[in-house]
Amino acid sequence: EGTAQVFKVILSPTVCEDPVIRLLCFAKGASMVANCVEAVHDALERVERCRPVSGLRETCRCPECGLSGLTEDQLHLHGPLYHSHHDARLGTPCPICDQRDGWPLHFHNSHGPPADREAPRSVFPAFALVVVRNPDDGRFLLVNEPASICHGGVPLYWLPAGRVDPGEGFQAAGIRETREEGGLNVTITGILSLSLSGANTSRPCPRITFLAEPTDPSQPPKSVPDWESTGAMWVTTAALATLNREHFRAADPIRLFPAVETGRLMPQSLDTAAFQALERCMERLTGNSRLSHAERASELLAVWRGLEAEYPAAIFKN
Ligand SMILES: [Zn+2]
Ligand SMILES: [Zn+2]
Repeated sequence: EGTAQVFKVILSPTVCEDPVIRLLCFAKGASMVANCVEAVHDALERVERCRPVSGLRETCRCPECGLSGLTEDQLHLHGPLYHSHHDARLGTPCPICDQRDGWPLHFHNSHGPPADREAPRSVFPAFALVVVRNPDDGRFLLVNEPASICHGGVPLYWLPAGRVDPGEGFQAAGIRETREEGGLNVTITGILSLSLSGANTSRPCPRITFLAEPTDPSQPPKSVPDWESTGAMWVTTAALATLNREHFRAADPIRLFPAVETGRLMPQSLDTAAFQALERCMERLTGNSRLSHAERASELLAVWRGLEAEYPAAIFKN
């Protein structure tokens, strides 16, 4: 409690690449687990930017550690940088406008630099997940989800994944989420699964899992915490097997990484008329708020029937 205002970094390639010890460090209070000196430099530059300023009339106080004298923009940077490794004090009033239940989600999306907030939610829910495999050594990318999102007390593991933003397609969403959460630029190389929940309702929700590889296999994954994630790491399937189910936000990595490695799950082509039709359909549906739910559902289901005719039945079950 007394050191919550201190930014604590573990700089160790060993810790960085051991998924169990890494979580233990976050649990013991490390704000960041760094894989290289450059990442520590980046983090310290941000720590400097959110150092309290004296003499300002309007300042705010961090609801997590009590640090005061911060500007609104500084608290926007400070919150996820210092506190994404532990659960948040959910339900605390917003330190700027006092809105109840204002911390940390309302604060992140209603205050601070507009460019650093989340994009407005698409009217049509759709999700892209990405299995990133490094072609040099066969390792897979795991992301540490901010603890306040997964409510696990620590930043639990998952894949880079998220909502398709307005006007985006699935591939663009997967590439963006991998850059934001994993710090890597990737090329999507295939489709691992196509799933559709609520197919018989007016609110169907498609979810696509891709296989991808980094454009630069030697680029280190992200390690400076921010709103998107607490960092990311490369993992072998042997190291993955040292983790338990409760170390994950959801079990997808446990299911997917070994299946991809052994070839039990083969990536399917992106280069089909049916998949291209889905991409165009998503860009339209997520970007257009004038369509009714029923219109969106029937447009999506027509395109989905094209996918079912094109792809093997097994990938609709993954
Ligand atoms: Zn704080
Ligand atoms: Zn507010």
